[in-house]
Amino acid sequence: MKNDDRLEGGCLCGAIRYEIDGPLLFVSQCCCKDCQKATGTGHTTIIGIHKSQLHLQGAPTTYTNAGDTGGTVTRHFCGTCGGRIFTSGDLPGEYIMVQAGSLDDPNRVSPESVIYMKDAVAWDFFDPALPKHEGMSPRPHHVTRPAEDRPGGQ
Ligand SMILES: [Zn+2]
Ligand SMILES: [Zn+2]
Repeated sequence: MKNDDRLEGGCLCGAIRYEIDGPLLFVSQCCCKDCQKATGTGHTTIIGIHKSQLHLQGAPTTYTNAGDTGGTVTRHFCGTCGGRIFTSGDLPGEYIMVQAGSLDDPNRVSPESVIYMKDAVAWDFFDPALPKHEGMSPRPHHVTRPAEDRPGGQ
């Protein structure tokens, strides 16, 4: 992954286009049930970035539901072709997750981990070399929820 390069992508019909400024925070395969339902696949590949790194053209349709961590999760997708673009949440950190498959050249990134393995389907397959996490992976420290906000935190 050429981490500081600009990445370009968009939806299937081209109504929504975007550019991403590097560096990327993380690239993960997510196997959670919501990703399965939202994409109709076994897992989705997500690129974590700060919201300010995404430059969007077009107006995605959104769908919001409750996320695994208690906050809300909003999925942004093309209202015409249904192509998924990115996911945002209301947790601290102002970071979003872009669908790697919406890149014009998805080979420019490569997954570093697999998350929500507890929900992975039996027929899905992952690179044995990747670190795997039962739930969400430990986040980069600058997007971690402050200790005092955690149940039992101090
Ligand atoms: Zn579209
Ligand atoms: Zn997921």
